Amino acid sequence: MNTAIIVAAGSGTRFGGGTPKQFVLLKDKPIIEYSLERFSDCEVIDEIVLVVEDSRVDHCAEFSSAYPKINAIVAGGKTRAQSVRNGLRKAETAEIVAVHDGARPLVSVGDIEKCVLAAKEFGAACLAVPVSDTIKRVEAGFVIETVDRDSLMRAVTPQCFERELLLRAIVENTDWTTATDESSIVERLPHSVKIVRGEETNIKITTPNDLRFAESVLEAE
Ligand code: C5P
Repeated sequence: MNTAIIVAAGSGTRFGGGTPKQFVLLKDKPIIEYSLERFSDCEVIDEIVLVVEDSRVDHCAEFSSAYPKINAIVAGGKTRAQSVRNGLRKAETAEIVAVHDGARPLVSVGDIEKCVLAAKEFGAACLAVPVSDTIKRVEAGFVIETVDRDSLMRAVTPQCFERELLLRAIVENTDWTTATDESSIVERLPHSVKIVRGEETNIKITTPNDLRFAESVLEAE
């Protein structure tokens, strides 16, 4: 059993407006539905646990009939990592869990599959994209270092793990609640995480400009 945990319980304050970004309309439907669609279409995913804000759990129940792979809709926590932990509680029978940001509607079915299969082989796998800009480390408004970009990658999602490994990483890390991704928790065990090269279009919607970019990608598709 491979379970996707799609986290969509953030308030999305950087996006502006009253609606959390993952529920804003992208073309004809809320952003979150694109992830639900793509994980539903992926043959290596057996079930989906959707994590949303407490106040949206009932409202999101209507997704269950449209996306039958949804096994549970649960309330998120204060941080992203706590939302993932709440989702994990409903993934008791999973061998592999694929953790995905609900704010990444453009993930491809092929990338999801590659990442799940890599986690089966290596225990932990992270979808990532090479960095194309030159990266500067900055302090107080001045460059203190130019970082060698050849070894840099942007971590995206899904990130996939043997469920037992991710649970152990959470138990053994005292500061897991503030982690901004699951790979970093597993890295600290330590356990090696296999990098799976993902598609550049798999952006996280953070600002209204990202939404316009996503629209243009969907039109091109
Ligand atoms: O805030 P950020 O953009 O890093 O959030 C990444 C994903 O984690 C989003 O899909 C967001 O809804 C989710 N999240 C969550 N629970 C939180 C914070 C963020 O499910 N407490």
